[in-house]
Amino acid sequence: MTTEHISSHLQRLWSPEVRTLEPYVPGEQPKIDNLLKLNTNESPFPPSPKVAEAIIKVLNEHAEPGNSLRLYPDPDASALKQAIAAQQQLSVEQVFVGNGSDEVLAHIFKAFFIQDKPILYPDISYSFYPVYSQFFNLKVIQVPLADDFSLDVTGYQQPNGGIIFANPNAPTGVFLPLDKIEVILQQNPDSVVVVDEAYVDFGGQSATSLISKYDNLVVCQTTSKSRALAGLRIGMAFAQPHLIAALERVKNSFNSYPMDRLAIAGGVASFEDQAYFEQTCQQTIDNREQLVAQLTELGFEVLPSKANFIFTQHPQYAAMEIAAKLREVGIIVRHFNKPKIHNFLRITIGTTAQQNRLVARLGEIC
Ligand SMILES: *Cc1c(COP(=O)(O)O)cnc(C)c1O
Repeated sequence: MTTEHISSHLQRLWSPEVRTLEPYVPGEQPKIDNLLKLNTNESPFPPSPKVAEAIIKVLNEHAEPGNSLRLYPDPDASALKQAIAAQQQLSVEQVFVGNGSDEVLAHIFKAFFIQDKPILYPDISYSFYPVYSQFFNLKVIQVPLADDFSLDVTGYQQPNGGIIFANPNAPTGVFLPLDKIEVILQQNPDSVVVVDEAYVDFGGQSATSLISKYDNLVVCQTTSKSRALAGLRIGMAFAQPHLIAALERVKNSFNSYPMDRLAIAGGVASFEDQAYFEQTCQQTIDNREQLVAQLTELGFEVLPSKANFIFTQHPQYAAMEIAAKLREVGIIVRHFNKPKIHNFLRITIGTTAQQNRLVARLGEIC
């Protein structure tokens, strides 16, 4: 039931704040045959086969199938934190895990950003930041991106109660080099600076290497994109232990068991299979470069991407019309009807076959 269909009479039972909320709108998940979904940045490849093996093993523990689910999971998800710490070359005390990085981000907002001063984020960025800002009643200054859609470091020198940006940025795919991130960290010693690295595994460089140097840095990652586990809901934050401790306080005031037994087991298996991870990330990068070449050939302009999607516009055709025409032939891409980016399409990297189907259709449209 969508909100518009609920009368104000019935809405009287809601908390007043809930009536004014503007929730995040996820990319749609339509159920159409032969649909090619290139709109939510899911992986076109399956997760490591070790993930399903590990989950099945949990289900078969304790004689009766599924019997292990009687018991609460480890509230600290220690096995998962250890596997992540080992893969990231961090200590377990530098790792926080949550039910998807969207939940981790919510805890980050609660733990660090509820300040008198405004928080800063780019005017074009992940659309959950404004949603959480409203949810937590924060003052916000949206810092404009530079004309080439890169992050403008000089905009983050003003007084603030915290800074967050995605790197590579969403929905542009543009990557900010680590030396620029260091400038932001150094200019804001009394603010927490959050780098949301949902897409960093596709050719970017992670800021985790800066964690030991900066006591105000939080790096956030997810298994949803590069590990093909959007359905398992595992997100993580990396920082020095004093910041992780704040996140644990928030988490334990909200939900003691955000990571279920299947997510813990599947997550461990994914992080232990480094070879598979590297191979699928590289395949995604190769496919991205191929798609960029094909689109450029058709006259599209593509922003430089280090993500598993590209952000593109055509000088002669309106993005909204291209998206509508693709939809008619069962291909879904993402269009944001927002200032500055309304003529762009965000297209998720697919398999070679999927991309060839897309490019063939685009060739007919353009
Ligand atoms: C996909 C995405 C997330 C959320 O990932 P989940 O772990 O699936 O909740 C967070 N930040 C950005 C920038 C994303 O694109």
